[in-house]
Amino acid sequence: MKCIYCNHHHTYSLCDGLKKCAKCKRKFSPKKQLFIQNAIELFCQNTNALQASKILDCSYLKISNIFGRFRHAISVFLENDFESNKGKIVEYEEFVYTLNKKNIYETQSILCFSDNQTIFTILMPSIALSQKLTSDEIKKFFLFHKFIKLQSNQTKINEFRSFFSLHIKNYRGVSKQNLFYYIKELEFKFNYNEQERMKILSKLI
Ligand SMILES: [Zn+2]
Repeated sequence: MKCIYCNHHHTYSLCDGLKKCAKCKRKFSPKKQLFIQNAIELFCQNTNALQASKILDCSYLKISNIFGRFRHAISVFLENDFESNKGKIVEYEEFVYTLNKKNIYETQSILCFSDNQTIFTILMPSIALSQKLTSDEIKKFFLFHKFIKLQSNQTKINEFRSFFSLHIKNYRGVSKQNLFYYIKELEFKFNYNEQERMKILSKLI
């Protein structure tokens, strides 16, 4: 087994089940490593935390914490990617997402950028709060955005919007503080296929 830290080919087994690298001398648990690899695979295959906890025979809390770690790492990766590709942006569009249909103040605006291949998203502050709109103004805002939606052509951003609307439903009870990470997860899954996701995420973790 290769070292998980320096990728050195020679590691030796310790009596407590751990492995130690002959080069960097760091210790790691192959069992834990295998668990993380399986979790990465399930995450990249779109398995939700509840299903994953059953497959991996662990608590829901444990796997949702691990998935949270993945989302965090993905967000940093995508933000850096956006910084280095800003110059290639050819189109942008904004769409709205309502966390709670009964509460207009829970409406978020998501800015989407595209270089025709990749989507980059930015989560904007709550529309009602940032622009201090009244309920009537927000209703108008929705109408306006629906209008834009109908007029749009088949673009990368439109594809992403459909993908987003379809998949965000899979997360039960998206909270305001986690929305950013869910958007980043969907951005990641939209931009990369299963094999690419696994390759990138394995490197990040
Ligand atoms: Zn090493």
